[in-house]
Amino acid sequence: MIQRARWMTLTTTVPPGMIDTANGLRIAKGTHLTQPPTLAINNLVKRYNQRTALAGVDLTIEAGAWNALVGPNGAGKTTLLRSVIGLVNPNEGSIQFEGRQIDPSIRRSSMGYAPQDNALYETLTTKEHLDYFSKLIGLDRATRRNRVQEALDFAQLGDRADDQVQGLSGGMKRRLNIGCAVLNRPRLLLLDEPTTGVDPLSRAAIWEMLRRLREGGTAILHATHRLDEVEFLCDAATILGSGRVLYEGSLEDLRRAAGLPAYVLQHPGDHNQGADDALHTVDVPTTPDLPAAIEKLQAAGIDPSTIVVQPTSFETVFQELVSGKVES
Ligand code: ADP
Repeated sequence: MIQRARWMTLTTTVPPGMIDTANGLRIAKGTHLTQPPTLAINNLVKRYNQRTALAGVDLTIEAGAWNALVGPNGAGKTTLLRSVIGLVNPNEGSIQFEGRQIDPSIRRSSMGYAPQDNALYETLTTKEHLDYFSKLIGLDRATRRNRVQEALDFAQLGDRADDQVQGLSGGMKRRLNIGCAVLNRPRLLLLDEPTTGVDPLSRAAIWEMLRRLREGGTAILHATHRLDEVEFLCDAATILGSGRVLYEGSLEDLRRAAGLPAYVLQHPGDHNQGADDALHTVDVPTTPDLPAAIEKLQAAGIDPSTIVVQPTSFETVFQELVSGKVES
């Protein structure tokens, strides 16, 4: 089954008398405003000679959402991110940012991209590096000073500001790479495998950085192979296979599409009733059903301390959805 990407919009009710200062318009009391999605990709096609990397991809990210982009190697994840940021020219399709056709100035002012391979100059210091990138995106001198300090703090590299990049650890380089991508305070951040090859402590630091960014309202499109990362961090996922969207939706929607329960309860049975030694299992369809399912077992004589609650992982959902559908 292929689920097409859905076009959703956020609708907000404007408080009485509120003025849309950006457009100089007074908005009538109770008016409904429809906010376009941060990113709307429609029917994107990219061919490299005979090879089709993207075969008509639709993808939507709402303002402030954190979406994962997952799929096996060669699925088209990097090509998709590079198309959005303008490093790849798609053959067909459209990309809109906040309802406007994307262009280089929107990319420069409102989007950040942290590529898979750190794009760093090894002989510059951390601070020089950030300063160089802020010049590239056109920030003036005074803004640059603030933004470089902001990025140093954000990447937790304040104490390494004057060290050459070549002396930083792998995890620090990754943080610097992401720091460069947020110099323009982007409203959309594109991340290509931000934690691949990074040790667990640096990974936790990166997750923390991204969480803070998201709390500030930045929408994130996050390509990763780490399905645990998707589960901890993301609201929704798009599963790509062979350049197509195989599935997309909230993690909950995807679990339902896979036909899997929210939890499996494992218990040893009631030995007072002559239960055998085998473990018994009960499926719990949704999270709100969990307390009732446990109470039911308890009422049937099962000691609650012997019940093991196993949540369905996103990894299990992913495997159920894509196994046999894509080459890896
Ligand atoms: P992913 O990021 O999911 O691993 P990619 O976007 O890197 O996938 O690649 C998608 C497909 O496009 C693959 O078959 C890959 O070999 C091909 N591809 C990617 N970049 C190029 C390129 N510059 N030239 C030719 N083929 C490419």
